[in-house]
Amino acid sequence: MGNEIVVGLHFYQPPREASHPSLRQISTDPENKNWTEIIELECYKPLAEEGILNKASFDIYQSLLLQLEKIDPATAKIYQKSMRENGIGEAFIHPILPDLSTQDKQIVISAGSNRFREITGQSPKIFWPPETAIDTETLCVLAENGYEAFICAPEQIVQSDGSSSDNQPTQIALPTGQNIIAIPFDRSISSKLAFDGKTNADRFSDDFIKPKQDQKTGKTIVAWTDAETFGHHFKNGDKFLDYLLNSSLPSIGLYPVSINRYLDSMPQIKKGKIVERSAWSCSHGDLVRWNNSCDCSWGYDSSWKRPFTESLEKNNQEISEILQRHLGSNYPLKVSSQFYELYAHPERVNSPEKALIAAKISALIARTSCATFFATPNVSGKINLLYAYQSILYLSDSGLTSSANVLKDKLFKDLSKINYPGNQETALSTLLKMISL
Ligand SMILES: [Zn+2]
Repeated sequence: MGNEIVVGLHFYQPPREASHPSLRQISTDPENKNWTEIIELECYKPLAEEGILNKASFDIYQSLLLQLEKIDPATAKIYQKSMRENGIGEAFIHPILPDLSTQDKQIVISAGSNRFREITGQSPKIFWPPETAIDTETLCVLAENGYEAFICAPEQIVQSDGSSSDNQPTQIALPTGQNIIAIPFDRSISSKLAFDGKTNADRFSDDFIKPKQDQKTGKTIVAWTDAETFGHHFKNGDKFLDYLLNSSLPSIGLYPVSINRYLDSMPQIKKGKIVERSAWSCSHGDLVRWNNSCDCSWGYDSSWKRPFTESLEKNNQEISEILQRHLGSNYPLKVSSQFYELYAHPERVNSPEKALIAAKISALIARTSCATFFATPNVSGKINLLYAYQSILYLSDSGLTSSANVLKDKLFKDLSKINYPGNQETALSTLLKMISL
């Protein structure tokens, strides 16, 4: 080989609105915009129509695909059709997996692969972890669910022989006796694809990709970046990508290949270990960006993050205990197998058991990582509050009104104690008032 490149795109948007019928009119965006609709026109639709998904590999979160199905069903179909050859698996929703309990990891990972199977007729083999956040337990759950490999950043993998992990597939031994392959992307090409200008694809491949072509070891180059880069962050970035894949790369002798084909024909693999609790977008260790303070908050006071995530996790755990009592210890299986149906079709939540399952699904969506990715909760923290509230509404719908009231009081008490930065208090308390917390 040595003449192949995997260009991977990560497609993701958080849910924009709640699914419970009584909450649907509430917008979570500070300016009342539907960003998924905006990005769909700038990026998702042109990428699909230009045939990019036939050449690029991609992961698309179900929380986005469900919105596309409503906004533009024809475009959603193109994504679904392309998933079979070029798609990889995901966790249905986007929480920091190492921060979830074992059962919750199982629920979201198997809900994602169930849906992938329904769409493509086959099981996903490669996984994109939300924020590429990993720990050993997450990898064990992935292997149990049939995954053979996952994508991550090179900084997250340490080679046994001390060599660089950049673009180096690596075998990770798990405590269960199984193995899983880490596929760290090429850091410099991935970063250039994300942040460099999108005006001249020929120059881009000559300057940045050609020097990396390693004819001697015959290594396939793997680059992966946010899909929204092409058309949303960079106007006409979709056309740049189209030209790069179809003309510039072939002209330097590099041909785009599916990540799934690459896995099937992977050459000898080195051995190594993961950096526990690491991710691609925070280098400060222990996944601190999402649950405490670090320099990723550009000097802003991010002390709100810890109590914010703790209160949502406490609510999520209390709901797990209720499901355990009422549905038994195999409740995770019941939740994962009905995750898509009850989330995408809330009208089918028509029994106390289904309302309990919908409560758990909502409490998990309230753990979506975007709320604490940014320095302030105003960017997307409302989504989490809305879903936490929805979990309590569904609990009440299941007939457990007094438990629901207890949880509502606890959540409100916890959330009101938090010292939100700047004028967030107003934004968040408006939402709390709207949902009568
Ligand atoms: Zn950080």
